[in-house]
Order: sequence, then structure tokens, then C-alpha cells
Amino acid sequence: MEKLYEGKAKIIYPTDDPQILLTHFKDDATAFNAQKKGTIAQKGVINCRISSTLFQLLEQQGIATHYIDQVASNQMRVKAVTILPLEVVVRNIAAGSLCRQTGLEEGTVLPFPLVEFYYKKDELGDPLLTRDRVLILNLASLNQLEQLQSKALAINTYLKTFFSDCQITLVDFKLEFGLDAEENLLLADEISPDTCRLWDQSQTDDPQGRVLDKDRFRKDLGNVESAYEEVQTRILSQIELTTRNE
Ligand code: UDP
Repeated sequence: MEKLYEGKAKIIYPTDDPQILLTHFKDDATAFNAQKKGTIAQKGVINCRISSTLFQLLEQQGIATHYIDQVASNQMRVKAVTILPLEVVVRNIAAGSLCRQTGLEEGTVLPFPLVEFYYKKDELGDPLLTRDRVLILNLASLNQLEQLQSKALAINTYLKTFFSDCQITLVDFKLEFGLDAEENLLLADEISPDTCRLWDQSQTDDPQGRVLDKDRFRKDLGNVESAYEEVQTRILSQIELTTRNE
């Protein structure tokens, strides 16, 4: 099948319907702006399942997403959107670039969730933006920026509690949004251990053992696949538990 676009972790295919695209999740993993490359066995299947599940949960909370359905273990159908060239990062706890850029100690609980915008531009190394830089570069309108901020915070409020019910701390995560033909902002891309920092609450005193996300790959901590599987298992068990109790 002819590809519409191939990224680091996913391939997008067209379908017979121009409003619908097919996303194929790959096992390929990259880090540090693709300077580190590898594969994580089963990642495509696991991330597709986790993303589908989280998109469905968010839809139930009234957050519009591009998700339509899952059509294979590593493929989902999505609404065709124009992706904004912005990465929206939400942080509850200091880690990664926030620590490197501010000197905050890893693990510092932030007094309120921090929403940041990064420019999706590999050549520039995805720099941190300010509100006015977004406006000057025409990456989004002021109204869209405000919507992005409030959607990101609503998603964080829901996911933080959901992951906590899975005994997982949602440290930070990255979102991408797209515009449909009517200019509605839809949550797009994926939400998975590739795009979130997730810490196991049962391993609080082991800063490496608690990591259940792509930092295991970035930092060569080993057991990457089993960490991703653990996240999937906990999410699916939590959903089963809540549906049984309803
Ligand atoms: N993130 C992502 N894609 C990117 C950059 C960041 O999914 O291109 C996620 C990352 O996994 C983490 C959060 O966004 O959950 C914040 O990442 P950070 O800015 O700390 O970057 P890093 O430390 O990975 O350089």
C-alpha cells in the first residue's frame, strides 16, 4: 500500500475515504532527535492498544479525538486532520528537559500542572516556544492556543487520576492536535509509553526500577518491552474492574 507519510514510530496510509486515514504503529524506537535508534519488540501492538484505549476513555469524557476504531493489532483508523506543528507537553513532576533547562531536581512535584509548547521542527531540535513565538510564527491562533491549553489541562486531570488508579504516576506527557475540515481541534497522534513518563507507584524508592516508559530505552535501563506490557496490563485490568463495577 502506498504510504502517505512515514514518521519515526508510525506510518500513515490513505484509505478509499479521504476523510479517513490508517495509522500503522511500528516497533521502531528513536530518541534524542533520532540520534539513537532501535526496536522494541511488540511496541507497535502495545502502543496501538494503549492509544486506542486512552482515546476511547477521553472521548467518553467529552474530549474530541481523531480516533475511529482499531482495525488490526497495530493499526487504527483515524479522522484525517491537519496536524499543528506543535508538541503540547504537560508536566506534573519535574523530569527530562525541564530539569536540564531549569535545574529543578528530578521528581520535584510541581505546584500546578505546567503546559508547554514545543516547535515540531527536527532541524531546530524541537525548541521550546513562548506564546508570542507561536503567534509570530503563525503556528496557531490565540484562540487555538487557549483551546490547546485548556484541552491539555482537562486531559491531564483525567489521565492523572486514571493512571493513579493503575498505581502509576503520570509524570509528564506530549500531545499533538490537528484541525479537521471544519477547523475543529481534535486530539491526534498517540498517547503511549513512547510519549508519556510513567512511574510505577509500587517502586517509589528505586528511581530506575520505577520507570515504565521510553526512558528505559533512552537511558538503556533494559526490560523495555516488559515495562510497556506492564502499562498495557494495568490499563486493561483497571478498565475491566470499572466496567465490572458499573
Ligand atoms: N516527548 C515526546 N516526543 C518528543 C519530545 C518529548 O513524546 O519529541 C515526551 C516525553 O516522552 C516526555 C515529555 O514529552 O514524556 C516531556 O519530554 P521532555 O521535554 O522532558 O524531553 P526529553 O527529556 O525526552 O528530551
